Amino acid sequence: MFDSLSERLGSTLRDLRGKGRLSDADIDATAREIRIALLEADVALPVVRAFINRIKERAKGAEVSGALNPAQQVVKIVNEELVGILGGETRRLVFAKEPPTVIMLAGLQGSGKTTLAGKLGRWLKSQGHTPLLVACDLQRPNAVNQLQIVGERANVPTFAPHPGATGSGELPEGPGDPVRVAREGIAHAKDKLYDVVVVDTAGRLGVDEELMRQASDIREAVQPDEVLFVVDAMIGQDAVATAEAFRDGVGFTGVVLTKLDGDARGGAALSVREVTGQPILFASNGEKLEDFDVFHPDRMSSRILG
Ligand code: GDP
Repeated sequence: MFDSLSERLGSTLRDLRGKGRLSDADIDATAREIRIALLEADVALPVVRAFINRIKERAKGAEVSGALNPAQQVVKIVNEELVGILGGETRRLVFAKEPPTVIMLAGLQGSGKTTLAGKLGRWLKSQGHTPLLVACDLQRPNAVNQLQIVGERANVPTFAPHPGATGSGELPEGPGDPVRVAREGIAHAKDKLYDVVVVDTAGRLGVDEELMRQASDIREAVQPDEVLFVVDAMIGQDAVATAEAFRDGVGFTGVVLTKLDGDARGGAALSVREVTGQPILFASNGEKLEDFDVFHPDRMSSRILG
């Protein structure tokens, strides 16, 4: 991801090298190139506009500093602004004062929620926590089973509607009540002293009212410390609309970007923070449990700018 954006921004900024002074016309021309590069990478238009305006304003107003030549100064500004749209400081998970901390996952089907539950479980363990996964996706017949498998791989226990089941994942009567399962899972965590509960919820292929209502009911019932919106960075411009729908329908406190290993253009990853106002907490970049890390805006910006 970001290869072509990286290349284009790199060559635009390289073109500035060797210039002793930058005229306003130089800055405008550079801003134009950056704008095209961002739009081609599928970054949302309002995000591009605001970004370019800030770059122009700052570059034109920049004092010539002794340490940096004009081109280096523009690179510095672009980097700082890029870190800004990615969220600025690294945002850490919020833990409850009284355990268990409850982390609810929400997002479209296929966004990588279940995989993320395993990754998060593994990561939480590496940080000294004792997590429990709770299977509240009762919509897809195999989802409970899939979470159990992911949990086993991550060596993290799973609370399922009928614990211990490893069969088809089908429930005895109807699709079951995910709110009840969430509550029971949290009670189980309290009882057995798990300190973090990761609640996996149902997704649909597209945003729909029932999905939103169900996620919103779970949120209401269990009052999670974090609601993480999981979004596949490969879905391009759709990511922004989906994020807005989840923000309005369920609400979330943070974003997890998945599939950053894909070859999409990456604009979604660059837009979602600015559009929703919520920080990106984690990034997933592969199918394996270890392909996962805390999201650092400064490192991501450096990666993009090369
Ligand atoms: P869910 O429907 O939201 O629970 O999504 P899943 O966790 O089942 O993931 C859907 C598919 O995406 C699975 O085939 C995962 O292996 C795959 N997947 C999840 N995260 C990543 C990632 O970061 N990179 C890649 N390449 N694939 C991923």
